[in-house]
Amino acid sequence: MEKKHIFDVISEQEKESLKAFAEDYVKFLSEAKTERESVDYFREILLRDHFEEGGKERGFFIYRNKFFACWRRGKRSIREGLRVIVSHIDTPRLDLKLHPLFEDMDLAFFKTHYYGGIKKYHWVALPLSLHGVVVKKDGSTVKIIIGERDEDPVFTICDLLPHLGRKRQEEKKLAEAIPAENLNILVGGIPLEKTSEEIGENGKQKERVKKRILKILEERYGITEEDFVSAEIFAVPAGRARFLGFDEAFIGGYGQDDRICAYTSFQAFREVTDPIHTVLVLFMDREEIGSEGNTSAKSRIFESLIYRLIKDENLSPTPDIFFEVMEKTKALSADVTAGIDPIYIEVHDKLNDAKMGYGVVISRYTGHGGKYLANEAHAEYVSFLRNIFEKEGVIYQVASMGKVDEGGGGTVSKYFASYGMDIVDIGPPLLSMHSPFEVSHIGDLYMTFKAFRAFLKS
Ligand code: MN
Ligand code: MN
Repeated sequence: MEKKHIFDVISEQEKESLKAFAEDYVKFLSEAKTERESVDYFREILLRDHFEEGGKERGFFIYRNKFFACWRRGKRSIREGLRVIVSHIDTPRLDLKLHPLFEDMDLAFFKTHYYGGIKKYHWVALPLSLHGVVVKKDGSTVKIIIGERDEDPVFTICDLLPHLGRKRQEEKKLAEAIPAENLNILVGGIPLEKTSEEIGENGKQKERVKKRILKILEERYGITEEDFVSAEIFAVPAGRARFLGFDEAFIGGYGQDDRICAYTSFQAFREVTDPIHTVLVLFMDREEIGSEGNTSAKSRIFESLIYRLIKDENLSPTPDIFFEVMEKTKALSADVTAGIDPIYIEVHDKLNDAKMGYGVVISRYTGHGGKYLANEAHAEYVSFLRNIFEKEGVIYQVASMGKVDEGGGGTVSKYFASYGMDIVDIGPPLLSMHSPFEVSHIGDLYMTFKAFRAFLKS
C-alpha cells in the first residue's frame, strides 16, 4: 500500500480550484471566530441561498444561537436513513470571568477562565481580541468584536521578563509555569480625571483606571459592570488567518479545530442540491469541554430534530420509526486529527499516523490506550466509505493519533453512535492543534471538502 501526496496526484485544474477554495476558507476563518459568529455566518449564506428557517424541503435550525443544523430532503424517504455530518464550532479560548474587571498598580485587567484544552503558555504575550455578547437586564443584546479591525485596539496577557523569570517560571514544569489565575488581560492604564467635588472624599479617588474603563464601556457599548454577569465575552487571538510557507502549502490561523470541518461540510452541503438520502449537517457547541450542556452532542437536540424531520414527511415519530431511521443512517463525525510533526516524531507511530498533505483522514477510532472511551467504526462502514471516496477521486488516509501510550482524545462520534447509526471520525490533520495558530495543509482542506461532498451525495 502506497500513500500518495495530493500534489503528486491532482490535475492542474484541480490545483486551481483548490487554491480558490482555500482563499474563501481563510476569509471564513478570519471572520467567524466564535460559535455565535459561525452560526451568523451560516444563517446569512443560507438565507441568501433561499433556505427557510424550519423549511420542510430545505431548511435550517438554530438553537440558543450556538447550535446550527441545515438539511435538504432526499429523493428517498427518511425511513431509508439520512446522511449526517457533524462538526463543532466551539474552540479553545479564554472566557471572561463573571466579575472580570479589577485594577492593581494603576493597571486595569480582565480576569479569565480558560475554555477547553489549552497550553497556558501559548496565551501570553500575543495580541488578543474580544468577541461575544452582553445581554443587558432588559434583555437587549450588545454584540462585541474589538481588536479585529486595523483601527481597533487589541489586548494582551503580559508575561514575565526572562531576567526575572528564572525561579518563577524556568525551573517549573511547563504546565505550572503560568497559573490560570495569572491569565489576566491588560485592558487599561489611564486614570479617570479627579473631579472637584470628589477631592478629599475618602475612597472616591480609588481605582480611577478601572472607573475610566467602566466609563468607556458605558459610553461606547452602553454596558455597566453588573452587565458582565450576563455576558459571554471571549478573548481569542487577534488578526486574520494567513497562507503559510514560501509555497503557501499551509493555512495558519486560530480555531481550525474544528471550523475547518464546519466550513468544508457547509460548502459540501451547499453543493449537493439533489441528494438521494435526506442530508443533515450539524454544527455542535461545547465539544471542547466534553459535550455538556443543551447545545452539545450529549443534549437531545439532535433527537428532537430527527422527530421534526420525520413529522415533516407526514410520518409519526414513534420509537420504532425513530430507531428504524437511526439504524439506516450513516454519519461522519467531522473533526481534525494530529498530523505527524517530524520535530516530535517520538510521540507518533510513523506507519499509522496521518501525514500532512496526504489527504483527509479517516480515524477509525479515537480514545486512548486500550481504546477506552472510543467509538470505533466497523470494518463494513470503512469499506463503504473507501468505495464512495475512490469513485469521487477523494484522496484519503486511514490513520490513528499518536503512539498508544502517549495520550489521546475524544470527539462527538460516540454520542451519535449510541442511537445506532454508523459513524466514523474524519477530517484533515493539523499541526499545532489547540494552539492560537493552528496549521492545516491546503490539499487536505480540499480533500476534506471533496470527501464530505461525496458522502452527502451517496
Ligand atoms: Mn475537534
Ligand atoms: Mn479540540
